[in-house]
Amino acid sequence: MSRPLVIFYILVIYVLFQFGWWAYLLSDLYSDVFELRLKLIQYEITNPEIIQSEKDLFLSNLKKKWLMIAGEGLVFITLLFIGIRMINKAFVKEMRLTQQQKNFLLSVTHEFKSPLAAIRLNLQTLEKHELDSDKRKSILNNSLAETDRVTSLVNNALIASQMEARKYTFDMNWFNVSNKIASIIDKIPEAKKEFIEIHQNIEPDLEMFGDADAIESVINNLLQNAEKYSSNNKAEVHVDLKRNKKHIELIFKDKGIGIPGEERENVFTAFYRIGNEETRKTKGTGLGLYIAKYIIDNHKGKIEILDNQPVGTIFHISFPSN
Ligand code: ATP
Ligand code: MG
Repeated sequence: MSRPLVIFYILVIYVLFQFGWWAYLLSDLYSDVFELRLKLIQYEITNPEIIQSEKDLFLSNLKKKWLMIAGEGLVFITLLFIGIRMINKAFVKEMRLTQQQKNFLLSVTHEFKSPLAAIRLNLQTLEKHELDSDKRKSILNNSLAETDRVTSLVNNALIASQMEARKYTFDMNWFNVSNKIASIIDKIPEAKKEFIEIHQNIEPDLEMFGDADAIESVINNLLQNAEKYSSNNKAEVHVDLKRNKKHIELIFKDKGIGIPGEERENVFTAFYRIGNEETRKTKGTGLGLYIAKYIIDNHKGKIEILDNQPVGTIFHISFPSN
């Protein structure tokens, strides 16, 4: 059972108990009044001083009871407010999740539709026209790139669903992270280099204990983001890798649109994308950083978002190195 629901039930039980207790107090008070009335009739006016002392006793008891009721009431109202606030928070969270899932559906449909449409168009062109070999090659390359886009989308969705179900397993080994990063950057196809310029500053031969494929997926996601969220034609990214005392630090700096302070926690949640799906220009599923954070957490590492100067974002990642 979720925490807000448990608190809600505790609150309901408390409210019921409180009503019972107050009902008991009221009936007790009523019987006191009734008893005093009886005594008043019995003593009549012949014993005025005794009646006075009874009255005083009754009034002091009444005062104590009122104080008790006020105290109980205060506790009750405070708890009620805390409960309402927690339920409200859970409700807002639920609404946000629904919105994110709606965004996810919208973006996923688009993400699948556009590469498939492009591939179809390319195939139709190849079928209908006799093209020279350069043109054919360019169309084939474009189709391959579009296929990669769909594959990466499906992979991300698959990895994220395994992570949600806690079924994603890491294959942990010592590996040369410096070589890994260099090979990922090397693998970037020439066609893509038109859109991204990578400056690397990599300390050689740093070893880390982890899942090399998972770390590759973190790096790919961050490079993709740097490219996607840079408004210039060519994104400029600095990738630094260095050892710092007992940590290995991996830093990505871009000169893109930046991430506002209040969004820095949110972007690591599954399906979360800044802004609104209908108006946003870039496409994506909001899974990249969720996956990256999950992988980094499982390597006992940390990921932090900072401002780049004068514009852009810095992703600062650190892993324990031994
Ligand atoms: P996906 O990676 O699944 O294709 P995505 O890029 O939208 O989709 P994330 O990588 O999780 O998802 O990023 C979440 C959001 O954080 C993005 O939608 C974007 O708004 C913001 N963001 C991420 N990286 C950057 C960046 N380098 N600069 C500016 N904004 C960023
Ligand atoms: Mg992304």
